[in-house]
Amino acid sequence: MDEILHSPDRKSAGEPAYRVVETLSADQEAPAASVSSRLHRMTSVAADGLTVARRAAAGVFHRADSAAAGHKLMGPLIFLLVAGVLGVLLVVNTVYMPSYVVSVDGVVVGTVAEPAVFEGAVERVEARAAGILGHDYTLNHEITYEFALTEKDKLSPVGEFETYLFDQIGEVMKSYVLTVDGEFIGAATDEAQLTAMLDAIKAPYVTDTTTSAEFVENVSIVREYTPSDVEQNLSVMNAVLTENTSGQTTYEVQKGDTFMQLAYDNNMTMAELEALNPGIDINKLYIGQILNVKEVVPYLSVKTTETVTYTEPIACPVEEVKDDSMYQGDTKVLDAGVEGVAQITADITYVNGNERERAVTDTVTISEPTTKVVAVGTKARPKTLPNGYFIWPLNGHITSYFGYRYIFGSYSYHSGLDIAAPYGTSIKAADGGTVVWSGTGTGSNWSYGKYVIIDHGNGLQTYYAHCSSLAVSTGDKVYQGQVVGYVGATGRASGNHCHFQVKINGTTVNPLSYLP
Ligand SMILES: [Zn+2]
Repeated sequence: MDEILHSPDRKSAGEPAYRVVETLSADQEAPAASVSSRLHRMTSVAADGLTVARRAAAGVFHRADSAAAGHKLMGPLIFLLVAGVLGVLLVVNTVYMPSYVVSVDGVVVGTVAEPAVFEGAVERVEARAAGILGHDYTLNHEITYEFALTEKDKLSPVGEFETYLFDQIGEVMKSYVLTVDGEFIGAATDEAQLTAMLDAIKAPYVTDTTTSAEFVENVSIVREYTPSDVEQNLSVMNAVLTENTSGQTTYEVQKGDTFMQLAYDNNMTMAELEALNPGIDINKLYIGQILNVKEVVPYLSVKTTETVTYTEPIACPVEEVKDDSMYQGDTKVLDAGVEGVAQITADITYVNGNERERAVTDTVTISEPTTKVVAVGTKARPKTLPNGYFIWPLNGHITSYFGYRYIFGSYSYHSGLDIAAPYGTSIKAADGGTVVWSGTGTGSNWSYGKYVIIDHGNGLQTYYAHCSSLAVSTGDKVYQGQVVGYVGATGRASGNHCHFQVKINGTTVNPLSYLP
């Protein structure tokens, strides 16, 4: 403060460019309405007798900018003389403007045209801090405005004040904030810590052929202000990001599936799988049935893309050759042909390691397939020839399935399918063939009662037991759907039903595997 000058305006007769109202003592509180709502005080800087000219509202006193002149402190009369002679007034009015040097807790932070400019910054910072902290916030600083003359283009940008003030708020820190789909996860002062954690989550899905790895969710790291007590523990954040939740998806039953195996495959107990599928009979799954199963869904899903090259067979084109020595519907392969080989290049997209999409980008034929030649029968087909598939021998309620069951007081093996129907219901041949037994069982076969066995060729036989009466004789050729007997309860039977049994090369198999 060794270059303080008297204001030329004040000493000259005219109205000053700025308004000088009255003098306040150094310790006096400013009465200004503009600051009364705040806790921070407007105080004046200690002044000497030569420079006490203060603005009442803001408690500011005059100070010529140090750039204004390199003058030594001088007396008022001398100054007046110099000013008058050199026309300093003119210079000051055109080059300099009245302004205020702002200090916060004794630290000069810049220069404003009006205290209101800085007050506005204070208000905005307080509002922003309140928004971040979730409660009202008041800056508690000693703010001083000191009058000065400043070159007209040297006022401080107001944004600098806001940044400075924000940095003074201990309850608020500037850090890297991690969000997932807009949900706050945590913050870190070092961005690399967050990116390293995210990379570690992706790592298990990245292989040598991975061309890209990204999160399905919108993961963002933004540098911003947060309350200083937000989550900054990386292991806590990592636990949130890698947490698995139970979702639900559907599964289409494939041939050979059992309820127990599906439960096991989906990490569920039988009871859990049943609970997800109310109303489903776990013993009667059918191919194509849709079941609800549990799905493990990680909080963050990793989508990776790999470019892979592999070979794939090319199917043989088929040529059919008519053969009038064969029955219609029968075929015989004359030349199996040789499959070709194609080299495929594809971009495969995975989510959490499960393939979701395969886009073939290139196909190169390495070898062409040769033609497969098949003879196709044209001779009229006798009705009694097997068609190669079964129909149900009768409609009815299944009272006992194939396999082990609890019956007659103990577990026993059941060799067929019991289909209950009213007495006398027709029983039809499941396929065409030759009757190799039609009669009443004796000895070890006593329990069958009246029964029929049809041989369908290729080692395949069907049994129809407990009939009330029989409609065919041993040696008869029968066609698919032909009535071979009638429902009854002969032999060992607890009620009217047909015991339907299937054997392949003498081994009993589950009839449900062959029925439509
Ligand atoms: Zn039975």
